[in-house]
Amino acid sequence: MSEPFQRTLAPFYCPYCGEETLRPAAQPTGAWHCDSCLRIFELHFHGVSTYRESEAATW
Ligand SMILES: [Zn+2]
Repeated sequence: MSEPFQRTLAPFYCPYCGEETLRPAAQPTGAWHCDSCLRIFELHFHGVSTYRESEAATW
């Protein structure tokens, strides 16, 4: 059985401060470190939606 597909996602900007001073964090594996605001965060891909908000019924 093969391993589940896993792709490293690379952010262009810090989601907290908007700066581009990102580098891979030493720990945890797969996390990103922002040199501007010193936050460490991860990105997760949860799948593809079949739902579009623009097609939702309006109340
Ligand atoms: Zn930041």
